[in-house]
Amino acid sequence: MLRLTGETLHVHFLGTAGALPTPQRNLPCIMVRRGSDTLLFDCGEGAQQQMMRARTGFTVNAIFITHWHADHFLGVFGLVQTLSFMGRTEPLTLYGPPGVHEFAGMVEQLSRNTVRFPVRSVELRAGSAVRFDGYTVHAFATLHGIQSLGFVLAEDTRPGRFDRERAVALGVRPGPLFGRLQRGETVRITREGQEVEVLPGEVMGPPRPGRKICYTGDTRPVEDRIRDVAGGADLLIHDATFDDRDHERAEEVHHSTAGEAGAAAAALGVKILALVHISPRYTGTAGHVEDARKYFPGEVMAPADLAMIEIGYAE
Ligand SMILES: [Zn+2]
Ligand SMILES: [Zn+2]
Repeated sequence: MLRLTGETLHVHFLGTAGALPTPQRNLPCIMVRRGSDTLLFDCGEGAQQQMMRARTGFTVNAIFITHWHADHFLGVFGLVQTLSFMGRTEPLTLYGPPGVHEFAGMVEQLSRNTVRFPVRSVELRAGSAVRFDGYTVHAFATLHGIQSLGFVLAEDTRPGRFDRERAVALGVRPGPLFGRLQRGETVRITREGQEVEVLPGEVMGPPRPGRKICYTGDTRPVEDRIRDVAGGADLLIHDATFDDRDHERAEEVHHSTAGEAGAAAAALGVKILALVHISPRYTGTAGHVEDARKYFPGEVMAPADLAMIEIGYAE
């Protein structure tokens, strides 16, 4: 069923470092909270402490792991322990590339006797789609030297805008009939003594796109391959391990520079670009932001750990 009212959509940057943590930045972990759902994308060491600091609560429904480099998954072990101590009984599902079943097995084995909820696993490949209530998480292949995925969270299309005045002009009385029209039902009313039908198309505008968030995980630029799934995203969270001066190093180790992230944002026509997976070699991110802005005219941010942004509906 189409939802009539919008859900909140918050992105918490719980970890924005790459490879090694620093005193300021934890390892990769992006939390997306939509309505009452909470998803983690990657789960670096200490993720649960970041969740405490950000006061997000612990009701994690699912964890999506981009690839099996330890900076992206070591936090699962500690988080599972913490969730168990807090009395969780609902299953937790881990989604990831091939290797995820073995990983979930290791989590269960290491946590033997202490974890009281099932840890499930679902293997994803490029093109996999995981359906949730009101949105889908799509997986795409990235270029990182090992098998790795990026993810797009895409909301379902929303119904068009309801034209209340038009409905009244057609003789529909405000009340339950409005709701039925908004849900796509045809209603019958009496107009000037005659029974007539009012069709939803007479009072509803064209369907409106849902919101979209893309998280690349670790990768060389891949925008040419992901236009279909990630084009027009509200938020692109892109690997920007290096600034543009370290371009050669980025190529060597299969990461992106901030300028490349900017070019990807421009090619995909996104609204906001967030630069993450910042190498510990940099003390600040002003250079990263500047590099990205050379290519991308939209909003660029290099979020600090615990930064949160709310994604609104485009109107
Ligand atoms: Zn990494
Ligand atoms: Zn990696």
